[in-house]
Amino acid sequence: MQKNVIDDVFGTKVFNDDVMQQYLPKKTYAQLKDTIENGEELAPEVANVVAHAMKEWALSNGATHYTHWFQPMTGVTAEKHDSFLSPASDAHAVLEFSGKELIKGEPDASSFPSGGLRATFEARGYTAWDCTSPAFLREDAIGTLLCIPTAFCSYTGEALDKKTPLLRSMEAISKQAVRILKLFGNEDVSSVRCSVGPEQEYFLIDRDMFLQRDDLIFTGRTLFGSMPPKGQELDDHYFGTIRERQAAFMKELNDELWKLGILAKTQHNEVAPAQHEMAPIYSTANIAADHNQLVMEIMKKVARRHNFECLLHEKPFAGVNGSGKHDNWSLVTNTGMNLLSPGKAPYDNKQFLLFLSAVIAAVDSHSALLRLSASNPGNDHRLGANEAPPAIISIFLGEQLEDIVEQILKDGTATHSNKGERMDIGVHTIPPIKKDATDRNRTSPFAFTGNKFEFRMLASSMSISGANTVLNATVADILQSMADRLEASSDFDTTVDEVIYETLSAHRKIIFNGDGYSDEWIAEAERRGLPNVRTMVDATASLLYPQTIEMFERQHVYTKTELESRAEINYEAYSKAINIEAKTMLEMASKQYIPSIIRYVTSLANSINSIASACPAADTSVQTNLLKKCSSLLANAQEALEALKKADRTANTMEEGKVQAEFFRDTVFTAMANLRAPIDELEMLVDKEYWPVPSYGDMLFEV
Ligand code: ADP
Ligand code: MG
Repeated sequence: MQKNVIDDVFGTKVFNDDVMQQYLPKKTYAQLKDTIENGEELAPEVANVVAHAMKEWALSNGATHYTHWFQPMTGVTAEKHDSFLSPASDAHAVLEFSGKELIKGEPDASSFPSGGLRATFEARGYTAWDCTSPAFLREDAIGTLLCIPTAFCSYTGEALDKKTPLLRSMEAISKQAVRILKLFGNEDVSSVRCSVGPEQEYFLIDRDMFLQRDDLIFTGRTLFGSMPPKGQELDDHYFGTIRERQAAFMKELNDELWKLGILAKTQHNEVAPAQHEMAPIYSTANIAADHNQLVMEIMKKVARRHNFECLLHEKPFAGVNGSGKHDNWSLVTNTGMNLLSPGKAPYDNKQFLLFLSAVIAAVDSHSALLRLSASNPGNDHRLGANEAPPAIISIFLGEQLEDIVEQILKDGTATHSNKGERMDIGVHTIPPIKKDATDRNRTSPFAFTGNKFEFRMLASSMSISGANTVLNATVADILQSMADRLEASSDFDTTVDEVIYETLSAHRKIIFNGDGYSDEWIAEAERRGLPNVRTMVDATASLLYPQTIEMFERQHVYTKTELESRAEINYEAYSKAINIEAKTMLEMASKQYIPSIIRYVTSLANSINSIASACPAADTSVQTNLLKKCSSLLANAQEALEALKKADRTANTMEEGKVQAEFFRDTVFTAMANLRAPIDELEMLVDKEYWPVPSYGDMLFEV
């Protein structure tokens, strides 16, 4: 077979199936595969053999250290390196790695957010190997590091991370989906996995400019800045030709991702200037989540090699679109059947219709929770701002499925389904193409796209684990009650029809195929009783709804204590983010903007004076008017600065939690906007030579 370019690159840094077969005895390999594929428990002696093989492979690739790589609730990854070194005698050392070290690590857990789960003195935390996500090598200035994906929990067994609940939710949905599938006669199905393909948006700006802006450095977004004459209105950046400097970045990014076995697939320019997107081919949820964390890390790293800074913030620039993440989600059996694939005759595909109605019911029953799973402080700027879905959860099914749902609701069952037609574009030399049965809807937060759902609300910088945990757990919960009823029925076919009918009738209000950006929808959603949760702080309450706690406990995904801790963490995270933004604004305004503006108005005053003394008859009205205007805005800015300082000081005297977070959102955030307004207006008046930081125009267009 001919060797192609990808062979030398793809997966070369991953302890993948090929490597395992090469390094592991046949028996160990089979045992490990059984754990990875069928969820069988892993015996300690197997772990020992795997650890040895992993070390041999890592050493042959130049590694000296290993780390348990985990995802605490900061939303970013964490690692503590250990060398393989062990003393052998006075003069010698050997490199060792045991099964125990592979399976368990014990980092100090006290400094990670735990939301009250851990007191500072209760420091013990454990990392535990997730053998279903492959270990990999990271190479950089520090040398070669063996990274072992792990879950992170406390001494008392509570999850302190994003991975553990995701893994639990994957078990939950597999268990319930298998029950249903058996009833449909799929005896060969033993497990169901959720497949996830996350599309990642990002900005690339010049790093020299980035380094001149404290707001970007400290908060990831610009806190000041007025729009240049041109924004995104011409739509000329979207899918535009990729320029060379960005292309070089993308090529290197692909190479780095491919080496780690990450299936980077599509790349294109996005709507806003300097904005781009990368999407990998989908994989199993926990691997997709690990990979997405790596994608974000590697984007930042590779960007710096090209003197770019990669911005992953949801709203780096006011006035142009921000960045999100689309979470494409489906359910696939171990036999390769996609449970969300409608097949050729969806109206008659009862199994598909049952799973579809389960998803509809799950999303409707827990819509506020789902909205929360896509929330972070940055995403509050996007949701409902006509660039991303509104903060109201609804489901887009498309014409074909909508029609089937209508038939079922009218007659109890459906008898036919529309098909995709042949399309005629009126040019005979172009081969005929077939249309999909359904158009797309960019404005829907949760859209059916052929054989998967696309949850389009996620924040660009966040881990995808939370959203997929909620999806899996809520759908598992609905499937569980459906399975209970179906297993107890003596007439399966009739009961299936009843369950589908009743589920769709109860939850039809969540289905909406129209324009999600329109004002009519907001009013209509209110009439339907759908929650419109505008901010992350409001959405956080959904973690502690009784129905949320019951559902998560029933599915063994979160305990009540874990949920309470996560609510605390959310409030704290929000308050801290806004506090850092406020402090950054205060610092930039007092140390950069105000002094620069004073220099500028002084130069105007000097100019007026020298012109008046040189030529008393000369007209200095331009300078005088400008001087008046700038001085008055400067006074406004100073006043707003004092008000922000006061608001932030008050916020910091408050006890951490919900009330403090609300104060940050309502009072501090408003004070920030009041400071920004006069400074942005001044940016349009003040001589560019005097302006202390790069402008939006510089950053968005000079890359
Ligand atoms: P678009 O959003 O334009 O349709 P793609 O068709 O490329 O983009 O798909 C977006 C993402 O969805 C990709 O990551 C892709 O691998 C993923 N995807 C495709 N099919 C599935 C599926 N059955 N389950 C989960 N993700 C999927
Ligand atoms: Mg998409």
